[in-house]
Amino acid sequence: MDWQTEDLKYIWHPCSQMKDYETLPPIVIERGEGINLYDINGKCYKDVISSWWCNLLGHCNPRITKALKEQSEKLEHVIFANFTHKPVITLCQKLMNYLPKGLCKFNFADNGSSAIEMALKMSFQYHYQTGNKKKKRFMALSDGYHGETLGALSAGALDLYAEIYKPILLDVKRINAPDCFRCPYGKCRNNCNCECIIEAEKTFDTWGEETAALIIEPLLQGSAGMRIYPPLYIKKLRELCDKYNVHLIADEIATGYGRTGKMFACDWAGVSPDIMCLSKGLTGGYMPMAAAVTTQEIYNAFYDDYLKGRAFMHSHTYAGNPLAAACANAVLDIFKEDQILDSLPMRNSLFHKIVSEKFLQHKNVGEVRHIGFINAIELVKNKETKEPFEAALRTGYQVYKKALKKGLILRPLGDVLYFNPPLIITEEDMHEIVNLAFEALEETI
Ligand SMILES: *Cc1c(COP(=O)(O)O)cnc(C)c1O
Repeated sequence: MDWQTEDLKYIWHPCSQMKDYETLPPIVIERGEGINLYDINGKCYKDVISSWWCNLLGHCNPRITKALKEQSEKLEHVIFANFTHKPVITLCQKLMNYLPKGLCKFNFADNGSSAIEMALKMSFQYHYQTGNKKKKRFMALSDGYHGETLGALSAGALDLYAEIYKPILLDVKRINAPDCFRCPYGKCRNNCNCECIIEAEKTFDTWGEETAALIIEPLLQGSAGMRIYPPLYIKKLRELCDKYNVHLIADEIATGYGRTGKMFACDWAGVSPDIMCLSKGLTGGYMPMAAAVTTQEIYNAFYDDYLKGRAFMHSHTYAGNPLAAACANAVLDIFKEDQILDSLPMRNSLFHKIVSEKFLQHKNVGEVRHIGFINAIELVKNKETKEPFEAALRTGYQVYKKALKKGLILRPLGDVLYFNPPLIITEEDMHEIVNLAFEALEETI
C-alpha cells in the first residue's frame, strides 16, 4: 500500500498548507526509540523538537510504557464528576513537591488550549464572584502563543495563526513584549534592568482596573521564535498584577517540566502565578492531558451552596483520564529516580557550548540564544544590522527540507532554527544533531 497517497486522500494535517505536501508528502513513522523515529522504510530521524515539544524522556520510554500498560488493564476511563481514581490523586500529591508556593487546586483538561480556556474563565468568574464585575478583560504579551481555540487564540498574538479570525476574537489588550535580540532600549538581556517594563506599566495604567488576568509564557515565547527574556521581567509583572488586582496566568505548557533547566520557568524568577497551565511534558508526550492549577483563594470564590450558582461549570470528557495520569506519574517517578533536574545545569551548558561553537561564526547567524536545552539560532541576512531574510524565501523551511533528507527533524519557526530535544539526550547525540543541522544550513545558504 502507498501509505502517503492514502494519507493525503483522507487527512487534513494540522498547521500545514496541504499544497506543500505535493512536494513533501507526510513521512510515515512506524516506531520510536529514545530520540529516534523510524519510518516504514527503516530510515531514522533524530527528533530534536521532541515531537511538538511534548516528548520529554524519549520515545517509547520503557518505564512510561509499562505504567500505561498496567493502568490500561485496570481502568481506562471514568467520569470525573463525582468519581475519582488513585492515579490522578497521586499525580496531584507528587506535583505538590514541585509547584510554586500557593498552587494547590488542580483542574484537568486534555490539551493545552483547553487549559488556557479554563484559566481565563476561572479568572473572570473569580472576579465576578468577589464583587469585581468590571474586570472583563484580559491582557497578554505581544507575540504570545497560547493555543488555537478561540479564547486561547485571542490571548495569543501571532498573526500567522490569528489574523483571519480577528473579527470573532476577544479584544485582548497587548503589552509590547521584551524583544531582547532587537532591544529598542539598546540593552542586553543578561544585565538589563528590564527597562521595557514601561510598556507593561502603560498598558496596566490604561486597562488594569478592567482586567481580570494577564497571561504570559514565562521566560520563553516559544512560537514567536523562541524569544527569551529575563526572569526579572516576570517579577516586575507580578508586582504590577498585585498592584492592580490582576491575576497572573503562567502558561507553562511549553516551559514546564525542566525545559528551561528548572522544573518551571517561574522558578527562575521565584514567582508564584495565580494560575499555572500545564500540558505538553506532563505525560512525557504519551497521552493528551492538561491542567490549570490554582490557589486556595481562587478556589474558595467558587465554593458555596449549590443553589448560589457559583460552581465552575466547565468540563472536558477526558478530564483527569487515568491512562494519562499513570503516564504523568511515571514521568515524575523518572524525574526523581534519575535526578533529572539535578543533571540539567551541566548538560544544558554543554549543549549550548556545542551549538554556539558550531553556529555562532556563520555569517548568517544573528544570535544563538538558549534556555535549558532549548537553543535557538536566528538566521539573518545581515549579521551587523540584524536585517532578516525576505520572508518569501522561506529560508527556514529550505533548511528544514535539507535537514529532513539527512534524518533530522528541525521544523524551524520562520527563520529561527531551534533544538528542543528530550531531556535524555546524550552527548553523542548532541554532536551529531548539531553537525547535521549545520550541514543543512550550509547547503541552503
Ligand atoms: C502548545 C502550546 C499551547 C497549546 O497546547 P495544545 O495542546 O496544542 O492545545 C499553549 N501554550 C503554549 C505555550 C504552547 O506551547
